[in-house]
Amino acid sequence: MLKYIKEIINKGDDSGNEMVVKFQLPSGLEIYGLPTKNFYGGHWDLGPTWNYAVMADKPFLVDSGRFGQGKNLVGMMKSAGISAKDLEFVLISHGHEDHDGGLAELVESTHLRVKAHALYDLLIRQYPEDAPPGYRENFPAKCWHCPMPETFWSKNCLGYHRVLNELKVEKIGDGENFLADNIRSYHLAGHSPDCLAVLLGDEAIIVGDIVLPDISPWPTRQASFAEVAEIIKPGYTEPEAIFGLQRYIKSLKKLKEIAIQYPEIIVLPAHRLYHDNHWNGVHLDSRVNELLEHHIERCAAILEILSSRPKTAEETAQAHFDEKLLEGFGSLMAANEVISHCELLIASGDVTTIEGNKFVATGKTDFKNYIESLRSEY
Ligand SMILES: [Zn+2]
Ligand SMILES: [Zn+2]
Repeated sequence: MLKYIKEIINKGDDSGNEMVVKFQLPSGLEIYGLPTKNFYGGHWDLGPTWNYAVMADKPFLVDSGRFGQGKNLVGMMKSAGISAKDLEFVLISHGHEDHDGGLAELVESTHLRVKAHALYDLLIRQYPEDAPPGYRENFPAKCWHCPMPETFWSKNCLGYHRVLNELKVEKIGDGENFLADNIRSYHLAGHSPDCLAVLLGDEAIIVGDIVLPDISPWPTRQASFAEVAEIIKPGYTEPEAIFGLQRYIKSLKKLKEIAIQYPEIIVLPAHRLYHDNHWNGVHLDSRVNELLEHHIERCAAILEILSSRPKTAEETAQAHFDEKLLEGFGSLMAANEVISHCELLIASGDVTTIEGNKFVATGKTDFKNYIESLRSEY
């Protein structure tokens, strides 16, 4: 990344919090990196959210930081000499709170148009009638499954939920779509059902949380589809089309095709571009290969754990993950990872379920071939 840095306007801290940096790509296109503070600490810390202002012919912003960061982001833009009036719209890379949390505040002060995938528009609304039993009926659909306790959400989330329900969104469809001349979006689901990557000409790609340096983005569970099936039909009827590790791998394979087509492509991720006092350049093809390999290894490790006797997701997570990663809410994240991998292992025939909530190895080891056989999707 270093060679594309034109100016560091604000230095920020060791993790890049509140840094303001101007990049200039070989074509002359200027992009501002505007990383806003994140909330999630502990051993699953992602670092700040890298929002980007792309100063194309029709300039636009990608992402808005977490809840409470909207105004701060406007201030950071100001320090870079960007006024909201210069921008055509803000695009949301996906509906995780560290990316769209600041959106309502941002829109209120700037009146920017909002663009996001069509599923985002559906999942940010409240459907008290359709919330599954036991779920929080006045949460947006994308938050129904949230495991956080009331002490957390009553303090951090209610304002966020309220404003999302009112938000006006211009919907972006599946596949490839032109956002402006030479600027294309791709629907690359899996980390979230509504993930978009944005290709800037033939020289850079904004990948949200689909590909990150240092850390492997967590995949959704395919089972999450059932929770929202009612509200996303008739457009989406197949769980594996938008949720789960398989879809995530298919999305990675689309990025691999892009990497092969444009070997020099510059990658702009939503976290960890700068971390621990250094820049993390991402080579798209190599990083996608590493991530694919990571999931193959994790499948192998989980299969090994399940070969001795049937285990629940929690038991498997305890056997697989480092103790530190299991502290507090980490145990839920870890169980989520195990389930999404077991869903793929079930599809490959290597694992089956038993006694309702336990997984067990079948004795087959076809997962690697199965992963290799998955084709790119967008
Ligand atoms: Zn995310
Ligand atoms: Zn994120």
